[in-house]
Amino acid sequence: MASGYKISIQGQVQGLGFRPHVYRLAKALDVRGFVANSNLGVVIEAQGKNARRFTEELRLHPPPLAVVTSFRVSRAKLTPCLDFVIRPSRAEKGAGVDVLPDLAICPACRREIADPANRRHGYAFTNCTQCGPRYTIIEHLPYDRPHTTMARFRMCPDCRREYTEPGDRRYHAQPIACPVCGPRLTVSPASARLPPVEAAAQALLGGRIVAIKSLGGFQLACDATNDSAVGLLRRRKRRPAKPFALMCENVTAARKFCRVSPAAQEVMLSAAAPIVLLPKSPRPALHVADAVAPRNSRLGVMLPYTPLHAVLFERMRLAGGRPAVLVMTSANRKENPIVAEEGGLGRELPNVPDLVLSHNRPIANRCDDSVVLAEAERESPLVFVRRSRGYAPQPLPLGRMFHVKRPVLAVGGEFKNTFALAGEDRAFLSPHVGTVETAEGEAFWLETFARYAEWTGIEPALVAADLHPDYASTRLAERLARDLGLPLVRVQHHYAHVLSVMAEHDLRSPVLGLAFDGTGYGPDGAVWGGEFLLVHDRANWQRVGHLGYLGLADAGAELANPSRVARTYLAQAKDRLALRSRGQRAVSRRLPLTSSVGRLFDAAAAITGACRTASFDGEAPAALEALADPRERKCWPVDEVLDLSVSPALLPEPIILRVARETAAGVAPAAIAARFHNTLSRAAVRLAEELCSRYGVATVCLSGGSFQNSWLRRQVIAGLRSFGRNVYWNRTVPLNDGGVAYGQAAATAWVP
Ligand code: ZN
Ligand code: ZN
Ligand code: FE
Repeated sequence: MASGYKISIQGQVQGLGFRPHVYRLAKALDVRGFVANSNLGVVIEAQGKNARRFTEELRLHPPPLAVVTSFRVSRAKLTPCLDFVIRPSRAEKGAGVDVLPDLAICPACRREIADPANRRHGYAFTNCTQCGPRYTIIEHLPYDRPHTTMARFRMCPDCRREYTEPGDRRYHAQPIACPVCGPRLTVSPASARLPPVEAAAQALLGGRIVAIKSLGGFQLACDATNDSAVGLLRRRKRRPAKPFALMCENVTAARKFCRVSPAAQEVMLSAAAPIVLLPKSPRPALHVADAVAPRNSRLGVMLPYTPLHAVLFERMRLAGGRPAVLVMTSANRKENPIVAEEGGLGRELPNVPDLVLSHNRPIANRCDDSVVLAEAERESPLVFVRRSRGYAPQPLPLGRMFHVKRPVLAVGGEFKNTFALAGEDRAFLSPHVGTVETAEGEAFWLETFARYAEWTGIEPALVAADLHPDYASTRLAERLARDLGLPLVRVQHHYAHVLSVMAEHDLRSPVLGLAFDGTGYGPDGAVWGGEFLLVHDRANWQRVGHLGYLGLADAGAELANPSRVARTYLAQAKDRLALRSRGQRAVSRRLPLTSSVGRLFDAAAAITGACRTASFDGEAPAALEALADPRERKCWPVDEVLDLSVSPALLPEPIILRVARETAAGVAPAAIAARFHNTLSRAAVRLAEELCSRYGVATVCLSGGSFQNSWLRRQVIAGLRSFGRNVYWNRTVPLNDGGVAYGQAAATAWVP
């Protein structure tokens, strides 16, 4: 026997040229042995006089895209061998491999498809070990071609040579393809004259709507610079105002209509290539239709992340004489999941696209585009609004206080639903599911869960769900718990929000959590949404402050009518002031109560005229933020907004009365909107600071969809820091309800 080393490596180590990297290193150091993929990770045996150095080199310098979570080495007696080889994959029990997210086209592949002399010139499915589809084509592990939707394509001799030649940059690139052997584009209705991409480019330039099969599903595209094309898409998709995402050729093109900070540019150009919410340029050099994102201060922009998109944009530039800007929105009906096959397009979106640009590589796993908010704040520029393509299914670590002893399935919340499967020190957060209220949504949820369960090897011993008795997600959890014979743990919504920050940043209790959002079921039966929660220690928390209650019919609905909320607020403000003058605080109305910050924004948006009727959740708050004048520093008296008695509260009525009075007095709505933000932020800081001193807490966590409002988030962070508090908020976990599942999973670590 020869002496040597056995190495086992886990993490994000498959599908990015890890084995070729190991192979080249072994060859360079004259090390003998083998490297293989297994579902436990990458396994290596190394022998020869440089075996030790080889091990150290590999530990210090893994391939660029790899994320190594475990690197174990042991000395061993090995069967002597003469060469170093890459062995076929082995299947073993228990999983240690992380399935890679999809990777945006790399510069080398981009150059090839643009090069007329290259055999992949203009080929829409070009990829290599550094780029291309992963999550959306993988069916089973280990990650090898037969386990992907590329299995049906037989490699041609040229591709096979690249695939088997260790020096080639496509060595073991599982989705390798070329025009001879790989997937093909189709267009329907078929054009006799034009090739598919050309036909799509012409249709788009002509103001028509084209459905494009992307990585995780279909997208609907139209020319974003053409007002009538965007209007047509809005009418056909029956989506009056919710912003559409844009795609443009490069960052230079994006700068023509948006401000792109260095942090924004970096994430746009990253392998994840998400939709990045960028501030609209005050003086755009290129007209983008107002209807793309009406009453919103930002535009969501992404760059072409597949070779198909890159080829389409090149054709459009050549045919149109200038770089194109396209609306690129997920093809789905209302809150239903994204459509992944042509049949689904006909069912879910009949007569929406004029033309369908499709292909014959099936989508194994549907996945929407991710959305991030990129800010100029140096130490934390990104806030996730949706964590999907390019990020899922990468695991998220759970903090040391949240080590999950019993593996858990957390079903998430009701809106912007995602689920989390967690075991030990990490959680696998699903891509955006949306809703499980519809049959299609539930089917998508179950299908994604089945994949996650298989890949992660996590067998849940516990199910976690929201406290709300009537959520579709809660009912699904009850059913799953019953069917699987598992205990069900119920987790309060805002507590889950706060724990999501603690787990993400590995924080220790006690912390004060500010959870501001639209709705969440409170243990007192009210609809919470403006919460100050004190997390003392393990599983021991209490509500120590909140936004004062408003009695509101359908307080629990995700989408409210801003004008009606405003009327209700104003009526209550009058009643309550009358009561207060008599020393009473109670609300006598027999209506559901809510402490929702989202509703407070709705009311202010309606009164100032920023947004009187809303067609999607978050529209009115975004409109109020867009209206606010950034130069306005004035703040209304904060003392009248604070109740620092035994049950502390932030009083909404004085704020709403100020909004109404100043509006009636003819103050500029932009100034009022700014004063609203300033006053609410400062009052929240004052109340939080009071609670921190009262309870001896140094750390504050911010979570909930209302903190997507950058004005509010920035001012609250700055204010609390000026008092010397440590402030944390969600960074890689979505701030909104997309992060609730992760918080629910964390909460179960503390359940005795
Ligand atoms: Zn590439
Ligand atoms: Zn080929
Ligand atoms: Fe929430």
